[in-house]
Amino acid sequence: MTLRESTDQAAQTADWRTHHEQAILPALGRPQRLLVRGKGARVWDETGREYLDLLAGIAVNSLGHAHPALVGAVTAQLETLGQVSNFFASPPQIGLAEKLLSVAQAPAGSSVYFCNSGAEANEAALKMSRRVGEGRSKVVAVEGSFHGRTMGALALTSKEAYRAPFAPGVPDVVHVPFGDVAALRAAVDDSCAAVFVETIQGESGIRNHPAGYLGAAREATSAVGALLILDEIQTGIGRCGSWFAFQDPQLGEGIVPDIVTSAKGLGGGLPLAATIAFGAATTALLQPGQHGSTYSGNPVTTAGGLAVLDTIEADGLLAHVRELGGWFAERLRAIDGISDVSGAGLLLGVELAAGNAKRVADAALAAGFIVNPVTDTRLRFAPPLIITAEELTEFLDALPAILAAAQD
Ligand SMILES: *Cc1c(COP(=O)(O)O)cnc(C)c1O
Repeated sequence: MTLRESTDQAAQTADWRTHHEQAILPALGRPQRLLVRGKGARVWDETGREYLDLLAGIAVNSLGHAHPALVGAVTAQLETLGQVSNFFASPPQIGLAEKLLSVAQAPAGSSVYFCNSGAEANEAALKMSRRVGEGRSKVVAVEGSFHGRTMGALALTSKEAYRAPFAPGVPDVVHVPFGDVAALRAAVDDSCAAVFVETIQGESGIRNHPAGYLGAAREATSAVGALLILDEIQTGIGRCGSWFAFQDPQLGEGIVPDIVTSAKGLGGGLPLAATIAFGAATTALLQPGQHGSTYSGNPVTTAGGLAVLDTIEADGLLAHVRELGGWFAERLRAIDGISDVSGAGLLLGVELAAGNAKRVADAALAAGFIVNPVTDTRLRFAPPLIITAEELTEFLDALPAILAAAQD
């Protein structure tokens, strides 16, 4: 019997792990819980157990679960017009593109390419880099970077273990050591088409670049006519307290990028991503027919994205994220067993003195909190932007006991 055929609720879910093992590609790993429902910053498993969600689908559910603005916008759009292809335009496609350009403070001539995942947004940016100039194919990325798992995005991703099994990959990508301005400057020469960089590195453990790094990246790329491509897939859409993290004067050092890639929080849970080309020259890199996707600008996902952006604005969530994130970081710093807190806004990484991130995440889950062991020694927090101080306090109050339980 399949999971859906079973009528008895208990029998249906008791054995979900076996069904998962037999039906889902093992490459994804095996999950720890079957989640059946979510509301706000909380989710429930099939037994009715409640969890406070401090991961939000990996920095995706900006408005939490089942937010009425998102549900309403998506439902209304699906009832009106679901998909049109790029032979036709739709109001939400244009509406979201204009809104994104506005919040990104993109100059005249800028434009948006919509797609469905972060990796795809980076693929589009990589294709743009191939058009920078004859013979210019070198792309520079940073050690520790994560840019996605499709072949082009994978080549940009630094982790050898992700890339090695799929060699040969896309050529001419060079990874420079994290935080090393001299190495970056040396790599960005006349053969360089683009530098890809996350405004804050996500998957490597929420690592902020040293002061001056992004400024130097801008200077070096401008000097040779290479693109500066900011991967804001994890850091954008209010996650770090500004629309995009580079707009924060401290994080972005006042730079203006050539391309920004966005996904995760943009769709609030829907598969939606964007490659934002800054300025007319960058826009002109891809000519009609040179790139595309059946779903590019799909009315339903872009209506969802508009609801996310409108709600962030209407509810003052950028200020909320800055204030709450700063307070949360301070509280975390004061906890015994946490030796470092990094990140910005509601994208935080903490270093565990005991170096036991996986065990702490397991203990947290057992106690009803979803947190992510982003590396062996670091936890990542990326809760919904709508999470409250009361909800975070529940977690902070439980944390000492969770850390103790993980030591046993
Ligand atoms: C998640 C992520 C990606 C890949 O996005 P997908 O939607 O999983 O393809 C790329 N870059 C960064 C910085 C990410 O965090």
